[in-house]
Amino acid sequence: MTRSISITGDGKTSIDTRSYDEPSLVNTFAYCRRRWYYQHVLKFFAPNDHTEIGSHVHERRHDSGVEKRSEVYLVSHRLRLRGKCDYIVNALGHKVPVEVKKGKDKFGVPAFNDVMQLVCYVIMIEERYGDPVPTGVIIYAGSRKRYDVAILLYHKSQLCRILSLMRTMKRLPEIPRRTKNKNRCWGCSINARCLVGT
Ligand code: SF4
Repeated sequence: MTRSISITGDGKTSIDTRSYDEPSLVNTFAYCRRRWYYQHVLKFFAPNDHTEIGSHVHERRHDSGVEKRSEVYLVSHRLRLRGKCDYIVNALGHKVPVEVKKGKDKFGVPAFNDVMQLVCYVIMIEERYGDPVPTGVIIYAGSRKRYDVAILLYHKSQLCRILSLMRTMKRLPEIPRRTKNKNRCWGCSINARCLVGT
């Protein structure tokens, strides 16, 4: 792994994080690798009602019932991740990341891709503050459901697997196949492009 380290004017070192991956793209990759490839590698993005509503929810996050502590910019140099968490709250002596989604939960559990995004914040908070983060929270604004997710080693190993795969596929010229779960294509903002793509 190559890291770009520079010395700033006041003598401090800074690490260039521009090549680090963002948690939202980890979410997209876990949802559909093809969608991720279009957005992240080919830089194709078409907003639709779902994505528009998504940004609206984020603009109105103060309405979600969770007191916002601060929007902290987070980094993990170990896993080469960077991004901002919706909220970080304190609970029982631990920092807890809170991710707010505009949609509804399905089958009474948080979606795997949303959990993977949450685990990115967990890893970054642990690295920043040096304390374990045993839980995170996902809120689905569309169904007004809240899930407290216990963060297990399993989740972290799944995230490492995804990051490794993502970084390999980033370098490949082939567009990944369509997801086998056709339900995911409903409301996908790039489905028109995807259906005619190779
Ligand atoms: S339409 Fe379906 S297969 Fe194509 S990018 Fe969207 S979710 Fe993936």
